[in-house]
Amino acid sequence: MSDKKIALFPGSFDPFTKGHEDIVRRSLKLFDEVIIAVGYNSAKKRYFEVNYMMERISSAFGPEDSVSVVTYNELTADLAQKTGASFLIRGLRNTTDFEYENSISQVNRYLNDKLETVFLITTPEYAHISSTIIREVHKYDGDISPFIPYDL
Ligand code: ADP
Repeated sequence: MSDKKIALFPGSFDPFTKGHEDIVRRSLKLFDEVIIAVGYNSAKKRYFEVNYMMERISSAFGPEDSVSVVTYNELTADLAQKTGASFLIRGLRNTTDFEYENSISQVNRYLNDKLETVFLITTPEYAHISSTIIREVHKYDGDISPFIPYDL
């Protein structure tokens, strides 16, 4: 295994928001490489198609950013092992996120005890941004461009 610090940032990213982008950019200061992993579950219908979202996410980052975007349909802990990631990144907006993330991280630790989950607290100006609300706005033809770091 290389000494490179690789971090995996898993999520639905339906869609990827400025809040997510902020977490990635801050993670790049802590890790050598960040892999954004877009979860794809065939039983769960997405609003934004997974390949389209992957392409849009890539467009938000430049070649100088050590970021890659993958899709996955397996346990996050297994994907981490395959990609050589020793860290999982998650963002925390509030106590609701904390309750949920706390349980997930305990399960991930059980599944792969070499995987360390790192939580970044949301930058206040992005704390109100949620993919769920953005989907609602888009559905009713509202302008979502202030909330996403790319053109749709
Ligand atoms: P999931 O369905 O796995 O929760 P999401 O795409 O909703 O996936 O979120 C991925 C990660 O990004 C989660 O850790 C979530 O807490 C975090 N996150 C979501 N919105 C924001 C935001 N506005 N600022 C910072 N982190 C966020």
